[in-house]
Amino acid sequence: MTAQLIDGNALSKQLRTDVAARVTALKAKGVTPGLAVILVGDNPASQVYVRNKVKACEDTGMHSVLETWPATMTEAELLARVDAMNNDASIHGILVQLPLPAHMNAQRVIEAISPEKDVDGFHIASAGALMTGLPGFWPCTPYGCMKMLESIGYELKGKHAVVIGRSNIVGKPMAMLLLQQNATVTICHSATKDLKAMTLQADVIVAAVGKRNVLTADMVKPGAVVLDVGMNRNDEGKLCGDVDFAGVKEVAGWITPVPGGVGPMTITMLMVNTLESAERRAA
Ligand code: NAP
Repeated sequence: MTAQLIDGNALSKQLRTDVAARVTALKAKGVTPGLAVILVGDNPASQVYVRNKVKACEDTGMHSVLETWPATMTEAELLARVDAMNNDASIHGILVQLPLPAHMNAQRVIEAISPEKDVDGFHIASAGALMTGLPGFWPCTPYGCMKMLESIGYELKGKHAVVIGRSNIVGKPMAMLLLQQNATVTICHSATKDLKAMTLQADVIVAAVGKRNVLTADMVKPGAVVLDVGMNRNDEGKLCGDVDFAGVKEVAGWITPVPGGVGPMTITMLMVNTLESAERRAA
């Protein structure tokens, strides 16, 4: 079997066209959705991510503010910037790019963001809303994965989904979203004894580990849907995921590539959340 590709670039383009149309409609009512992105330090990967997020705002007609601060910034100074953005009516979403320098408490900074503007969905209020099924903001990466499943018309009810990884920003919210769609969910992590025994039972596998070749062809049930969240570098320095793409695509029914899979969807869902925040306030 050769798996069908779930093309994150193509789906993103489609969704961003829809976002741009909704932005235009909101602007006609006098509201321009605005995203504030705060970057502390000079992590090269973070610099690329924030640039892409700001560009996505420009492409969809949204207002954006990018603040870059040196790694010597104190936590109190950062909290003051978050507070300023909380009180800025032109801003509907606030994103503090992670990781933060080691002298800062990232969770404390995230908790300082107003839940109404927590478009990354990392605030405990957002996590609680997701857990209870109340309106809030879903973290962008799992939200993007759900959109990818929706795009192929995949019915999750009664299916077995295995999520590899249990971080607060990917694995746990991913599992919760799958559960809400009535999938049976198994969460695996570094202490899971026999990962292969778990993944072989799965109709859907989400790999969110950050290690190459965590999932190989012998670990996948024929026809399974494989979503690769991982972002790693191969021996040639090229971007690759957690999944052995060449091998797994011969077994899976559907697969996401890296690059061009979950990555662009994450930024797209950030646009969706920011737009939604502005729409909620305008309503
Ligand atoms: P993380 O916080 O480091 O979590 C990694 C998870 O993998 C942990 O739960 C860990 O288990 C588990 N793990 C480690 N080794 C394992 C193994 N051998 N078998 C099974 N589980 C194992 O990472 P993260 O922030 O969730 O990110 C995961 C990956 O996704 C990274 O490559 C990151 O760059 C990427 N990512 C991509 C996007 C995107 O937009 N495409 C967005 C976010 C993250 P323990 O909990 O037991 O330690």
